[in-house]
Amino acid sequence: MDIFSHSLWGYGLFGRHRPWLAMAFGAMPDMVSFGAFAVIRLLNGNYVAGKPPLEIIPAWCFLLYDLSHSLLIALLACLLLFWQNRALAFVMLAWPFHILLDIPFHTRHYFPTKFFYPLSDYFYDGIAWSTPVVWLPNIAGVVVVVGYRLWQRKRLARSW
Ligand SMILES: [Zn+2]
Repeated sequence: MDIFSHSLWGYGLFGRHRPWLAMAFGAMPDMVSFGAFAVIRLLNGNYVAGKPPLEIIPAWCFLLYDLSHSLLIALLACLLLFWQNRALAFVMLAWPFHILLDIPFHTRHYFPTKFFYPLSDYFYDGIAWSTPVVWLPNIAGVVVVVGYRLWQRKRLARSW
């Protein structure tokens, strides 16, 4: 899924009390991998908009993608935080939700999601998120969860 959708899913599902943090956790797995690579290309003056070809992507970007897209790591992080701060751990669930969205909507051709990494390189060869059959329901889902969140915020603001 694109980074904006991930942010908005995070906000809609987990952003009741800390909306910006939920959006950040929703975007984080892509920000630490693709985002970092985009910033480096910007600084080097060789950034080109769009999906970069695999041949120019450095090994560290693949490693960061695999680490940040591991359900094992994300759930372990949420569990560790749960013992310290349950409310924050709930917001952090936007991270594993990002991974759950990526598993079926990445193909083996471009950053398959190895959700048991580093224990296994297994991935599901899914349907690319950019195809209309995935993209349009994604947008509909984003509209529903963000619409609900905004409606809820408005309702809570009125009750004060
Ligand atoms: Zn991702």
